[in-house]
Amino acid sequence: MKKRLILIIIVFMLINITSCNNKQQHNNTNTKISKSDFMLNTYIIITLFDTEDETLFEPIFNNIKELENILSVHVATSDLYKLRENAGKKYTKVSDETMEVMKKSIKYSEFSEGLFDVTLGPLIELWGIGTTKEKVPKQEEIKETLLLIDYKKININEEKKEIMLEKEGMFIDFGAIAKGYIADKTAEKIKELGIKSAIINLGGNVLLLGSRPDNSDFKIGIQDPKEARGGYLGTVKASDLSIVTSGDYERYFEKDGQRYHHIINPFTGFPSDNNLKSVSIITSSSFDSDALSTTILLLGLEKGLTKVNSLENVEAIFVTKDNKIYLTEGIRDKFELTNKEYKIAD
Ligand code: ADP
Ligand code: MG
Repeated sequence: MKKRLILIIIVFMLINITSCNNKQQHNNTNTKISKSDFMLNTYIIITLFDTEDETLFEPIFNNIKELENILSVHVATSDLYKLRENAGKKYTKVSDETMEVMKKSIKYSEFSEGLFDVTLGPLIELWGIGTTKEKVPKQEEIKETLLLIDYKKININEEKKEIMLEKEGMFIDFGAIAKGYIADKTAEKIKELGIKSAIINLGGNVLLLGSRPDNSDFKIGIQDPKEARGGYLGTVKASDLSIVTSGDYERYFEKDGQRYHHIINPFTGFPSDNNLKSVSIITSSSFDSDALSTTILLLGLEKGLTKVNSLENVEAIFVTKDNKIYLTEGIRDKFELTNKEYKIAD
């Protein structure tokens, strides 16, 4: 958690550095305010440009809290909590928000041929990565828990706005997609409040609303997967886009020299293990960026590249375990490598 905080601060500083530079050039067009808080189990920072009105933060943060209360499995009044209680027994009426996130999740399960799966809740709980209960489960336990994991066992009745998980013990974890959804909703809220230019950073899930007040692009740091030393490996210039990174370094523990991270392969029951260290997805919707970054990390470099290239208006930055960076066509001239330990592959 501490490492994560450092990272967020670095991203924050980078944003500050670039805006300070601009301030000198565009004196009166660049007022901005920021507020950070611990929510969604991570550090979030909202930066609003061209305003000094701190009262805007209250409705923005309240909105995030409300969405968290709906979409977190850990909140006793949430839809996901009820779905868990009613699993294998009966249908549960859910909010529009839950329905929307569930449908998008299933879409990405199909797209990834089952690698992305929000019914992974029981297995995530078993590993307990990032909690005080983290452990390498016994093979037996994994085998048994895997019987509860299957996105095809999510039954949806759209007309009645009801959902049922087929088997008792099943539960949903939106950890790989909720922040993206909430980032998009936060952008809507900020626009409603009359702000045209903002940076929404939900624990590294970044959404750039508009461009800088002087119409130039924002410059955003891409996390260095060797995050322990802090810093970023490069920067991306962008406006009106979301940049979401998934990596094996976000939440993990080490046991007997082996790293166990928080993105789990639903077929093996073990953390995803391929040639990728991290993937950043750049596209207009944060909802999609978030789901995709997790999906593509699970797919690995080759399949991941093919999949990303099959989608329109989606760009990606892949970081492999041997410190190579693979870029999709559309991001090449927007990306600047700043850390010499990495090499851009041709
Ligand atoms: P982060 O939340 O660290 O930014 P991700 O968006 O990649 O990173 O989401 C990782 C989270 O998604 C995990 O902590 C877990 O809650 C959940 N998760 C892990 N493996 C999968 C998977 N195969 N499919 C769907 N969700 C997953
Ligand atoms: Mg994700």
